[in-house]
Amino acid sequence: MSSVFAREGVIRQTLKTVCEGLGRSAGGGSVEISGLLLGRDLAGNLFITSAVTGDQVSTEFGSELDDNFMARVAQAMITGKITERIVGMFHSHPGIGVFLSQQDVRTLANFQRLYPRFVMMVIDPLARVRYRFFRYDTEAQMARPLSVELIE
Ligand SMILES: [Zn+2]
Repeated sequence: MSSVFAREGVIRQTLKTVCEGLGRSAGGGSVEISGLLLGRDLAGNLFITSAVTGDQVSTEFGSELDDNFMARVAQAMITGKITERIVGMFHSHPGIGVFLSQQDVRTLANFQRLYPRFVMMVIDPLARVRYRFFRYDTEAQMARPLSVELIE
């Protein structure tokens, strides 16, 4: 099974961002938070070095990143302010558990066509297992959880 390496501080920050999203929920509804994971290849594995989050657009399928945010990230990459590549995305499932919805699986499979090591991180700050990384297995046609190693 392939591993994902991630900076411990990035995971901590991402969990914090998701928890702050929970705090903003009005009337008992849950605010979904999503963002992009940046990183690079590390000896044939994926190394996640930072995470960015932007404005959310809520749809019936959950949250999507605002187009302006995506454009700002793209601009930062073109101008060299961001030197890493987009290697994954994260989003929250507040109170419903850490799994991929059918829409999540489709999104993940699409991104893996552009970058085979692309991962999707799902976070439920209310669950016992608070987060998990997934990758789509094109042969088995299903998403599989990945083991994660945190690096300081
Ligand atoms: Zn989802």
